[in-house]
Amino acid sequence: MTLAKPLNQQLLQRALLFSALFCAAALLLHMYLGHRAKQQQLAEVPQRIEQQVMPMLAQSVWDVDQAATQQLLQDLLQQDGIRQISLRNNQGAILLELGNINGVSHAIELPVQSHRTGDQPLGMLHIGLSQAALEQQLWRDNLLILLELLAGLSGLTVLCYRFQQQRFLQPLRQLQERILPAANLDAEDEISALSTALQQLQQQQQGYEATHLRQEHELARHRDHLAELVAMRTAELEHLSRFQHLISELSTRFIHLPLEEQHQAVDSALERIGTLLEVDRCYLFRVTPEMTIHDNQEWCASGVKSTAGFYEDYPISESLWFVPQLMRQQLLAFSSLDEIPQEGHYERERFAEHGIQSIAVVTLSHQGQVLGFVGCDAVNRSRSWLDKELSLLRLVGEMLCNVLLRKQHMEELDNAQHALAQANAKLESIANTDGLTGLANRRLFDLRKQQEFSAACSLQQPLSVLLLDVDLFKAYNDCFGHLEGDQCLRQLASELQQQFPHDEELVARIGGEEFAVLLPRTDSEHALQQAEQLRQRVWQLAIPHMASAVSTHVTISIGVASLDLSRHDSIDDLLAEADSRLYQAKHQGRNRVVGP
Ligand code: GH3
Ligand code: MG
Ligand code: MG
Repeated sequence: MTLAKPLNQQLLQRALLFSALFCAAALLLHMYLGHRAKQQQLAEVPQRIEQQVMPMLAQSVWDVDQAATQQLLQDLLQQDGIRQISLRNNQGAILLELGNINGVSHAIELPVQSHRTGDQPLGMLHIGLSQAALEQQLWRDNLLILLELLAGLSGLTVLCYRFQQQRFLQPLRQLQERILPAANLDAEDEISALSTALQQLQQQQQGYEATHLRQEHELARHRDHLAELVAMRTAELEHLSRFQHLISELSTRFIHLPLEEQHQAVDSALERIGTLLEVDRCYLFRVTPEMTIHDNQEWCASGVKSTAGFYEDYPISESLWFVPQLMRQQLLAFSSLDEIPQEGHYERERFAEHGIQSIAVVTLSHQGQVLGFVGCDAVNRSRSWLDKELSLLRLVGEMLCNVLLRKQHMEELDNAQHALAQANAKLESIANTDGLTGLANRRLFDLRKQQEFSAACSLQQPLSVLLLDVDLFKAYNDCFGHLEGDQCLRQLASELQQQFPHDEELVARIGGEEFAVLLPRTDSEHALQQAEQLRQRVWQLAIPHMASAVSTHVTISIGVASLDLSRHDSIDDLLAEADSRLYQAKHQGRNRVVGP
């Protein structure tokens, strides 16, 4: 295993290597170009001398100005590549010589010509050139350049190092720390490890992208599914809300419904509930106190056969599983008949015979007493029951339970009212009836006399009254005893009723052996006739009365009065007149009628 070099060191090394190579290349290029320039410079020496120095040199030679000539040659010797200069005359003798022959690589000769001498040169200028001197200079230049490059390289290295540290290495190291586990040092070096890690990262990224894409698809699918669920839930909520509204509407309606409209209202409610729940039957089976299903009401969708007839007068004890379960749980709902356990096979078969695929039934009970069942059947297709639907069906059960209870209470109330009315009538009758004879008593007579008087006054109709008294009845009692006296009074009462059988005629016992008869729409003549007939009938009864001084039979005396508004201001005036006439009848000898 090779130890990994630190990343910054590797990068620095590589930067330095690159810079060094660059410097070397630059230096070589510089050397090559410098060499060529120097050669060029050497090649141009004669031409330059010809142009720049030669005229002045020719002049100074012509003028035999030794000092100027020497100065010119001295200046010339300072030029690059010129190592040695000698001025010779046309015969070859050296007039002036400067520089050193050593190191001269090649020489050139130039004629010193002046326009004064024409084509004849004044002498020859011998110049010794040295390539080595030029090259030495070149090397010095190169060395300087190399030093400058090295200095520049050092500066650049420092800058690179800082740049790497700040802009590149630190972020890279952070990245490296993140993506390269500390233990993963098997790679050849850090860069290779980094590169491998980056590749892994890329693969990971691709993996992430693929996963992300998959997740997005999944998310889109979930979103669609969610939208479907929301739509379904909204529809469900709308359906339940409609159901709720219906129950609340029906409940309100049932509260104030007259009893006679209840049956019709239940029919309508069952239809609306069945339609809303999209079932095929909706029914209310009442249960009698004898635990028999009775007075069923059922709504069926068109084409669906009713089951109400089948269960009419059905003893619920015949249901061995379903009804006991229903009474225990209050609600049973099956989406499919297969959900009914084996114990309920009898009911399951019945349900199947009735085409039921799904069923939900709620018990209507009050204080432990089962009043009935309300239920729904799905016949044409099976359906599942939502919990909320079943809760609302319970509410329907409570509502119909209240309807049944209300009906029961109303019937009980009716019966109680009827019994009370009967009792009141009986009481009234007792209060208005004479206990001994069964005739109206004084109380009723007083009531009716006033009514008849008012009616006669307002209608201007006749009204007559008869007051009767049994003659010498005290003696009768004394003779036959009180019980026989009572029996006699009953016989007389019966006779009175036969004589005055019409409802509008009132016969009353108003005292011990005194009776009164009110005869509306009867004038005095007719009243007198009736009184006389009555007197005779009593006499004809031939009730023996040994103690009577009047007759051997029981007799009566009657006073008759008829209403005359000119004389009678009240009914009591009329009665007083009748009483007065009764007194007259007694006084005149009894067993007679005294009238107007
Ligand atoms: P007069 O012809 O004047 O009417 O003679 P009277 O005896 O009938 O009259 P009086 O008023 O003296 O007697 C009335 C009697 O009627 C007295 C009472 O014994 C009798 N009496 C009243 N009420 C009853 C009753 O309810 N039953 C019986 N048995 N007798 C009664
Ligand atoms: Mg009397
Ligand atoms: Mg009497």
